[in-house]
Amino acid sequence: MRMKAFLYLPVKKMYNNKGNDGKGTYKKIMTRHRIKNVAAACLILILILNGCGAPPLTEDVQEEEPGITSMEEEPDLAYEVPVSLPNILVNQLGYITNGTKMAVFRGGEVSADFYVIKADTGETAFAGTLEKGNFGKTDDQLYYGDFSALIQPGTYYLETPFLGRSYTFQVADDLYAQVLREACRQYYYNRCGMSLTSEFAGERAHNACHTGNAVLREDISVSLNVSGGWHQDEMGSKDVVKASENIGVMLLAYELYGGAFGDNMGIPESGNDIPDILDEIRYEIEWLLKMQDPASGAVYSGVTVYEQGTGKGPVSYVEPADIEAAKAFAAVLAKFSYLYRNYENSFATDCLKASDRAWKYVELNGEKELEEADPWKFAAATELYRASGLAACHRFVTEYLSQIDSGGELDEVTFLGYVTYISTKQRVNLDLCERITKELMQTAEEISERAGSSGYLVEEGEGNEHNLKLLQNMMYLTMVDYMIANHEYDIVIENHFHYLMGRNEQAVCYIDNEGQSSYRQTDEAMGIMKQFGADSKLIFMLSEIVGGHTK
Ligand SMILES: [Zn+2]
Repeated sequence: MRMKAFLYLPVKKMYNNKGNDGKGTYKKIMTRHRIKNVAAACLILILILNGCGAPPLTEDVQEEEPGITSMEEEPDLAYEVPVSLPNILVNQLGYITNGTKMAVFRGGEVSADFYVIKADTGETAFAGTLEKGNFGKTDDQLYYGDFSALIQPGTYYLETPFLGRSYTFQVADDLYAQVLREACRQYYYNRCGMSLTSEFAGERAHNACHTGNAVLREDISVSLNVSGGWHQDEMGSKDVVKASENIGVMLLAYELYGGAFGDNMGIPESGNDIPDILDEIRYEIEWLLKMQDPASGAVYSGVTVYEQGTGKGPVSYVEPADIEAAKAFAAVLAKFSYLYRNYENSFATDCLKASDRAWKYVELNGEKELEEADPWKFAAATELYRASGLAACHRFVTEYLSQIDSGGELDEVTFLGYVTYISTKQRVNLDLCERITKELMQTAEEISERAGSSGYLVEEGEGNEHNLKLLQNMMYLTMVDYMIANHEYDIVIENHFHYLMGRNEQAVCYIDNEGQSSYRQTDEAMGIMKQFGADSKLIFMLSEIVGGHTK
């Protein structure tokens, strides 16, 4: 069991401080969870291996050893290759050499066998048998073809009588690391206020933008230097809360799977002995610092850029300070400070002080009574407590968790606060830690169950919102997978990646620059890397897929 020191501490405290009783309670949760998982794992294995114990798909299934077949044994493939959507759905980038490899097949008439064909020579590299899978959205029976045994690197496509061909894909090592690298680099491409040279940015190189001051929305006689940070849309607008969400997600990815992030992402800071993901986030953090009024601790909520009309160029406004921005600011500045202190202590200290000022501003100007869910204040309190031990923050955390019923669906800001609280080395309330752990595990189990019972092995739905939901689900599942090292969850996470890479109803790859059938052909807005709020979650998911296997 992989239980890292990171999360082991509070759990250990649970054992020590609560004696046998506490230990028993915790163990019970773990055991029940494990049994449930074993049962679920068995069920899925049965589904995949035996297709619910269904008889062979056709009468004339030949007992063949899967493996390399010679040209003479190749089936007759003289049918039309369809021009419409393929009925064999694959991860269009491909599969890791030693990983699980599975494709989804659909169609009224399905042959029992499928073949993996070498794209360059047309040779059959592997022959397998289809297994009955789950039903699709329209109650159509889907089939799964497992070709994990194919470990020869190369470019392939799948083929079966009646259904035609899949798009091509690769079998190779390190396929996904390059996607993670590109996902991280999106933030570099969006840097404001500095020149991006072609050495690092290729065709996205440009001169420094938005370098002039921006005027205050409330008082246009006052202007501020708020250049820097990342653009969040084509105009170059920047919102503090939105920035904070993405920083929070990426910092947690780094905290859990730091091994997935190198110092060689190809940004100007590469090679400085600080992981590039932290360098990139620091660029945004430096912009956030500009957004705070140092005297009051208030935080301007964002910068909006407008086009003024022909010839006049754009104009930038600094949006008024608001309490939500101060909470989000306090949360991520403390989080960054905590993770950055071993790299540059003085800057980390500055960040912690700025976080503390924002917290004090919130205390002074925010709601006095705790009446409803306030995820950012909760997250800020957990971060500041972990980073500085501030007693007022812990008082707020315990009061918040005791009074606010999480009840509904877990939101990602509360999630970030949860994880920080159960992983702090400061004194914690053990009952609350246990409650959080239970809620996280239950959330993960429900996500896993919904995914496992659907045709494409991710929760059912469609459209961009659905893709974003899947990415959010994978944050929760990845976190719990980190805590309990559940192999079944590893597979669920990979299945979500395969789905986004083309193993979906539309046979569309939602990741930029990959796959034969790009989202661009159907809906330009659905590219995950192009969406400021989605890319960080893709990074989170990939950090587990890439980092979880390299540890
Ligand atoms: Zn700019």
